[in-house]
Formats: sequence, structure tokens, C-alpha cells
Amino acid sequence: MILKQKGTYDIFGDEAKKRQYINEILDAICQKYNYSKIETPVFESSELFHRSVGETTDMVQKETYDFKDRGDRNLTLRPEGTASIVRWFIENKLYGNLSDPVKVYYNMKMYRYERPQSGRNREFSQWGIELFGSDSELADAEIISLSYNAYRLMGLDNICVKLNTLGDTESRENYKKALKDYLKPYINELCEDCQERFEKNPLRILDCKVDCDNDILKNIPKISDFLNETSLTRFNKLKELLDLMDIKYIVDDKLVRGLDYYTHMVYEIVLDDSYALGGGGRYNNLVESLGGPSVPAVGFAMGYDRTMAMLEDKNINIPINNDIDVYLLSVSSDEKETSAYLAQNLRLNGFIVETDLLDRSLKSQFKSVDRFNSKFLIVLNDDDLAKNEVVIKDNKTKEEEKININDIIDYLDMHI
Ligand code: AMP
Repeated sequence: MILKQKGTYDIFGDEAKKRQYINEILDAICQKYNYSKIETPVFESSELFHRSVGETTDMVQKETYDFKDRGDRNLTLRPEGTASIVRWFIENKLYGNLSDPVKVYYNMKMYRYERPQSGRNREFSQWGIELFGSDSELADAEIISLSYNAYRLMGLDNICVKLNTLGDTESRENYKKALKDYLKPYINELCEDCQERFEKNPLRILDCKVDCDNDILKNIPKISDFLNETSLTRFNKLKELLDLMDIKYIVDDKLVRGLDYYTHMVYEIVLDDSYALGGGGRYNNLVESLGGPSVPAVGFAMGYDRTMAMLEDKNINIPINNDIDVYLLSVSSDEKETSAYLAQNLRLNGFIVETDLLDRSLKSQFKSVDRFNSKFLIVLNDDDLAKNEVVIKDNKTKEEEKININDIIDYLDMHI
């Protein structure tokens, strides 16, 4: 037997319907904010992710699905959405006409070679939003507000924005220097990865999963003490906007997010004060570092599977309707053709219809009516059909009537 791969899953039945319902909520809210849907290829040139996500991140060092195709190209399965969307933005020269910001959203499968565990898979989905062409804190606030409201619309209301700023390049460089000065005497006490991060990207030591409880990190310098006037003013303006928009947030000095490309604002949306559902931030240098001109941008990505798990955990009711409208029963095989014709007609008129495809006894067909929880059943028999009539029965009230075959649609329209 061939089994599915570790860290992957099949989506079927109620699970697929729940996802469809959530997708509809996400599509609808993105429409309200006027974001257009985008889907990028599953694989891209490896260089795209290695250059954008950063060589020092776990994602690129340990988690990408890299492979060579038959034409000897180095390819990588998409581990996140932003890099691909920036590639699309540059490739289509969308920076050429930025009289309005470019706003897009995606809902795509991602691939990371991780150790599968609860909430961590090798194939998983992310929903995300990206905004190009505005450096304003108004754009930061719009992205935060869209992601925050999306969770609330799904029914997750005990959420909060964990917010931080990495400041502009000057502030960040000063902070990196202070971090290194502080950490230098303790370097051997840090985990192996952090020892490597110390030179390449010291900011990432702050969100190390291994060293997070290390006492050394508890007294580490805070970015807020290194923000220059511009960065500080900008961060304060964003906080004012969030207050005004009634968005709950807390400032977390240690939040840096895993990726190398963030500048200024970074944030996560957390549930019950602890559980991160997704995160994002501003990435003003990424378009340029991937070969485009300097274009400011800001975005957010939501862990779709975790969010679904949380909806389940919180017993949030996702309406799923598996009931059908009509089951067409044939008394004998003589009525099968009429059944096929009628089913076609009813389906094209918007009804959910099942028929017997197995040439079974009437008794077995009645059992199917109950299994499908059909609202109505229509019994086809030759004698009635000769007079252009059928018996239609309401499966709940058990009331039945004989009606003209041409009146079925009107009858169902009136009763469903
Ligand atoms: P990241 O792109 O790492 O910032 O992750 C954004 C969100 O995607 C996280 O908050 C997670 O909820 C989700 N996520 C990241 N990696 C995985 C994974 N391996 N499996 C499932 N969800 C993931």
C-alpha cells in the first residue's frame, strides 16, 4: 500500500466544507479592503527564496524542499508567499504605475521540511496579504486591521496584536551593535544556532526557541532604547491608529519574526495571549534586494491549519450542510432514463439531487433517502409517468402529493 507522505494530509468531506466556509469569509473580507486574489507557482527558482528569506534563517538552512529538475535547474517548493509575490510584482513591472498601492491576497499551499508535529506540517496552507507602494503607517494599520478583523469574523475574538518595531536601518544597526556588545561575553553559553546568528543576524537570537528561557536573554538590550526620532515617531503614530481603530495590541520588545527582510513594524496575532496564529510586518528593502527599485511594502501571513485547529478547539460552529434536496427513486429499471433526465433538469435549476446509480431495489433506495437526509423524494413509476405524473413526498412531514412532471421545479421552489 502506498501511503501519504509524512507531514502531509488529505482534505475531504466535512473538513473540505469547513475550509470552503472559511475561504468564503477570507475572500469576502479581502474584497471589502479591495485586495485582489493572486496565486503563484508551487515551485520557483531556489535563488528567489534563498535571497529573500535569508540564508541565515532556519527556513532556508534546514527546511526548504530543494530539487533539480530534468533540465538541471535549481528549484524550490514555495515555503512562504511573500518572496513569490515580490517576484511577480517586479517581473510585471507593477512599480511603474504606483499611483495607487498594489494590494493582493493569497491562499496557497506551502512546503517546509520540518519535523511533523501538531500544528507543523510539511505541506500546509497560508492565507496572506501584501500591500506595495505605501510607506505610511496608515498602510501598516490597514494590514493589521484586515488580519485582525479576519480572525474576528471567523469567530476567534480573544485575539490581540503583539507588536514591535525594528526601526529604520540606522536604528537597527545601532541596536545590532549593542546586542553584539552585550552578548559577546556569553557567546559560548548560547545554542549552536545562535552562535552562528551572532555574526550573521544577531536580531534572530531574540526569537530563538532554544535560548528563549536563557537568563542571558532576559536582560538583553531593548530595541526601543535604540530607535531614532523618525522610527519612534512612526511607531507612536501606528499605535495611535490602532487605538483609534479599537484594535487590541501589546508591545513586545522581543518580537523580531524569523525572516531577515523585515523593517519597522513587525507583529503577530495571538490567541488567548500566547498562541501565535500568524504574523507579518513591513519589508521596505525586499523589492530592491530582489532586483526591483526601492518600493515600500507590508504584509501578513496566517497559518491556515492552525487557525482551523483553533476554531475546532474553541468549538466555533462552522455551518456544514450535507443534506440533499431531492432523491429520485425508480420503481424499476424502466424509469432510469426519466430519472437521469429529471436529475439533469433539476440540477441545472439549482437543486442538489441524488439518483440510484446501482439499479437497486426500492427498499434500498429508501435507505439512501435517509442516509442523504433528503428533503424531498420523488417516486417514478411507469404508470404515473404515462400520465406525466410523479409522487413527491416531503421527507420530514411525510406529506405526499401527485403532481405533473412539469410542475416539479415550481413545487420545490415553493417548498424548499
Ligand atoms: P511564518 O511564515 O513562519 O512566519 O509562519 C506564518 C504562520 O504560518 C505561522 O504563524 C504558522 O501558523 C504557520 N506555519 C508556519 N509553518 C508551518 C507548518 N510547518 N505547518 C503549519 N503551519 C505553519
